[in-house]
Amino acid sequence: MCKAFIFLPSMTTDQLKQHFATAFDQQALEVYFCPGRVNLIGEHIDYNGGLVMPCAINFGTWMLLAPNEDNVFRFRSVNFEDTYDIGVQDAYEKTGREWYNYPLGVLHHFVADGKNVKGLDVLYYGNVPIGSGLSSSASIEIATAFAFNKYFNTGYSKLELVKMAKSVENNFIGLSSGIMDQFAVAFGEDSKALMLNCGTLDYQAVDAHLGDNVLAIINSNKPRKLAESKYNERVEECQQALAALKQELNIEHLCDIDTATFEQYQHLITDPVVLKRARHVVSENDRVKLAAKALADHDLTEFGRLMYASHHSLQHDYEVSGAELDAVVEYSLTNANVTGARMTGAGFGGCAIAIVKADAFEDYRKELIAYYTDKIGYAPDVYATNISDGVHELTGE
Ligand code: ADP
Ligand code: MG
Repeated sequence: MCKAFIFLPSMTTDQLKQHFATAFDQQALEVYFCPGRVNLIGEHIDYNGGLVMPCAINFGTWMLLAPNEDNVFRFRSVNFEDTYDIGVQDAYEKTGREWYNYPLGVLHHFVADGKNVKGLDVLYYGNVPIGSGLSSSASIEIATAFAFNKYFNTGYSKLELVKMAKSVENNFIGLSSGIMDQFAVAFGEDSKALMLNCGTLDYQAVDAHLGDNVLAIINSNKPRKLAESKYNERVEECQQALAALKQELNIEHLCDIDTATFEQYQHLITDPVVLKRARHVVSENDRVKLAAKALADHDLTEFGRLMYASHHSLQHDYEVSGAELDAVVEYSLTNANVTGARMTGAGFGGCAIAIVKADAFEDYRKELIAYYTDKIGYAPDVYATNISDGVHELTGE
């Protein structure tokens, strides 16, 4: 399904409205935007009771809608050729593996919950590269849930919409994933990082003024083939580490201890590989707390140092990086206009991020592409983004 994706990075709202008018022979009534997200720091620790620090970005999914008289939901995407029309029903089922299952899953949750809905013409457009870990799926889910909630006046809270979208991903689409993505694209705030405990959903929006820097996103263009099997392997290794530590410590998660305590008890873990995995988890959780402090102190240099340290730990202790993501960080370390860089997401491909001086971004982009292509054999995509607001209606456009 991914190969049908049409990437058109420069659509304006006016152009989208024209697309809508052409597709449906009527004007769009409402326009919504939901961002994608990156995780700034706190990788592979959400399933260990740890803290993550995602933020919403100014790349995402637009959703335009208008009612129709036919009591039919008509789903279109500028990015995909397949279309889908279906009448108002009491329940919906996943059909094939096509893109429209994401809005269909949201619609299913509304009707299954007894909400009254009426036919809508709906058009999406996304400029988030899909399947590369920037969570275009959470973006289209939350765009849809938020827009339906507003349009049908169904009164769900934002947190309820987040939980609903996670259920769409887990139960309707059939992917077991955590809540971070949906949470980040819904609750993201301009120039703020969200320090989030995925277990309790306690969060804190931390000022993350990048000043004269941009948040660069580097898509390695390496498919994340290994990600799922290795993910399960890491979960298992973390459970082994936890069981070993529990012999003497009364803890529920690996992230219940800090590095100092870990060093005191690490002898309980006899397998050297499991020991490395646990060291990543515990140290990464400490780094998230230090990163929040660095942001509060407006110390972007320290924040960048923690990003590099996070990558190093993911590369050597957790072993979820790879030559491609390492190449991005290796080059970034040589460029004085880069404050910090690291892989983000599950690893084995997908994306890296870097904090780069805005006026040096173009040079960074060109030099990184040259370095990476020379080393890896094909080019990455490099984007300049900003930390932005979560899902919202676009008014007055
Ligand atoms: P990721 O979330 O990492 O981008 P996923 O495979 O989880 O990758 O989700 C990507 C899928 O979400 C796409 O294959 C498509 O089905 C759906 N999707 C995302 N953006 C759009 C869009 N603009 N239009 C239609 N479908 C989309
Ligand atoms: Mg996804």
